Formats: sequence, structure tokens, C-alpha cells
Amino acid sequence: MPENDNVKVAVRVRPQNTKEREDFSGNRCLEVDISSNKITLDSKPTPKPFIYDFVGDEDITQEEIFEVIGMPIASSCLAGYNGTIFAYGQTGAGKTFTILGPSTLDVNDIESTQRGLLPRSIEFIFSSVKKEIKRCSGLEFLIKCSFLEIYNEQINDLLSDQKNLQVREDVKKGVYVDNLQQETVANYEETLELLYKGIRNRHVGATSMNKESSRSHSVFTLAIESKEKQDNVWNLRSSLFHLIDLAGSERQKSTETMGERLKEAGMINKSLSVLGNVINSLVDISEGKNRHVHYRDSKLTFLLKDSLGGNSKTCIIANVSSSSAAYGETLSTLRFAERAK
Ligand code: ADP
Ligand code: MG
Repeated sequence: MPENDNVKVAVRVRPQNTKEREDFSGNRCLEVDISSNKITLDSKPTPKPFIYDFVGDEDITQEEIFEVIGMPIASSCLAGYNGTIFAYGQTGAGKTFTILGPSTLDVNDIESTQRGLLPRSIEFIFSSVKKEIKRCSGLEFLIKCSFLEIYNEQINDLLSDQKNLQVREDVKKGVYVDNLQQETVANYEETLELLYKGIRNRHVGATSMNKESSRSHSVFTLAIESKEKQDNVWNLRSSLFHLIDLAGSERQKSTETMGERLKEAGMINKSLSVLGNVINSLVDISEGKNRHVHYRDSKLTFLLKDSLGGNSKTCIIANVSSSSAAYGETLSTLRFAERAK
């Protein structure tokens, strides 16, 4: 991946599932060229090429995704810069797989090769911290985690039972979520336990767990603070590392878009398009253009205001299926990702 730009866009194509292979004969709507980070969509009259910072095909492993995307951002967070990773795509495209791992993954299976970016990043951060502390005796770290979801533009805490939290902006503290539970964590295992506690909370009260989670964004955050005494002066650093599993980007079917569902669909579409606009403005700014960034247009971008832009590192991973059955949504995801460049 290119080293210099702070906003990167990756696309990951997942393997076809049984339904796609059997009911749709495994027909593909795209070809992947990993050597040139290009995806060519079978569009009429001519195939349409899309180029990104990084493209992974069906064979890319969870470990490779971590090495290319997770590790550089986690390292830069340890050095004091904010970092954010978003997983974007229609429901079923592989967002949760990329962030967490397969839904069948056991909490206790902390060694699994199927683990996604989040457990791997946590593990990496704690092992790096351990090494750093060994290296310099005057160095101290404080790591805290929080976990929230945004559903219908409402922020709910997943580590406590608090609902409808507010985003506030303060001259001193910057942007923060008021009353959000923050737990100090000492190691990988402890952090993973909180992560799974949050995932269990997310499902409480959901009529269908898949439906609920596909309609909300989940934001897991590590706050990393360090201090080091050098020549009798404290050198302080702090950074935030967010891993975000976005709501499904699909357009709701017209038969479903009534009442509550219609409201939800509108909010999801708005929130994702605000995110697209914000990323787009940040890319323009990094290219020297003068743009106003509309962070306040959605809860998600507002709470990330201090973590996007400037020296922060951001990566959007757009997830798609290669199946012709998903053509329309894949096209829309590839376009969203292209616009973020
Ligand atoms: P989303 O979160 O976008 O709705 P999921 O991550 O739940 O999608 O993926 C849907 C299904 O496909 C899950 O069963 C998941 O384990 C599987 N899957 C997704 N991506 C991959 C992949 N790269 N390799 C293997 N299985 C995958
Ligand atoms: Mg999911």
C-alpha cells in the first residue's frame, strides 16, 4: 500500500457462498487483478475498471489483511496518531468477517487463524506495549476500551446499559461521547472479554440478530495513552484506535420499506452518504484543496471528528462478493470506494 496518504481504500472480495455457487452457478460479475490493485466489473457495453490502494481476492487470508491494513495503523496509534478502520459493504459481503472473524468463532479461540482485524490488532498492541516497556524503563502505558453502536442515529453503549448517549465537543477534551463507559484494560484476554460482552449486549432485544446488526454501526475504540520521563520532563502521547463495522449499505427492498424500516433505511443511507462526503472532503484537503468538512451531519462522523483528518490514518475496506447475483450492490460499493479516493 502507498505509504504517504492518510486515507486509504481497500477492496476485499469474499469467496462465493453455497447459494451463489449452486443457485447462480458461480457466475462472476468481476475479475480481480491483485498485482495492479484493479477490479474489473463486467458492465455493459464495456467492462469497467476500478483501481484502489489495495485489492484482496478470495484467497487473501485474515493474517495478510492484518499485515497490510491493521498493523500499519495499529503501529501508528502506538506512536501517538489516531487511526480508524471502516468495513463497508452490503449485508453478507464480509464486513464482520473482516473486522472480527467468522460468526462461529469461539471467544476462547484466541489463537484462531480465522480471527479478524480487531482481535489481531488488540493482540499486536499489547505485545508491542510489552516490548516497549521492556526497552525503556521510564515508559508507562494506559489503555482503555469502549464499545458502542449507532442505531437510527442513536448512540447506545455496548459495555453498559446506557442508551441514547450524546456527542459533545469541549475546548479541552475535544469531541467525546458523554457518559460512555471506558474500561481500563491490561492485556489481550481482558480486552477480548469486553469485546464479546459488548457483542452479547448488542443482540439483546433484537428480533433477529442479523437484522439488527446489519442496520447499525458498531464502533470499538481503544484509547492509548503513554508517558515517558526524559531529562526530567514527561513526554505525553495519546491516540484513539477505532474499528468500525458499518451498517449494511444495501438499499432496502421496497416491500420492506414501510414505517420503522423506512425510517431506518433513510437513516442508514444518510449516515453512510455523510461518511462518504466527509472522507471525500478529507481526500480533497490532503490534495491541497480548500474544503469544509461536514462532520456534524451524522453521529458517526461527529464522534470521529478528532480521529479523521490531519495526521490520522484511515482505511476503508469495501467488502464485496464476486457473484453476479450481487451485481447491483457490488457496483454501488465499488463506486462508494472509488469516490473515497
Ligand atoms: P456482513 O458482516 O458484511 O454482513 P459477514 O462477515 O457476516 O458479512 O459474512 C457473511 C458470511 O460469509 C459469514 O458466514 C462469513 O463467515 C462468510 N465470509 C465472509 N467473508 C469471508 C471470507 N473472506 N472468507 C470466508 N468466509 C467469509
Ligand atoms: Mg455483519
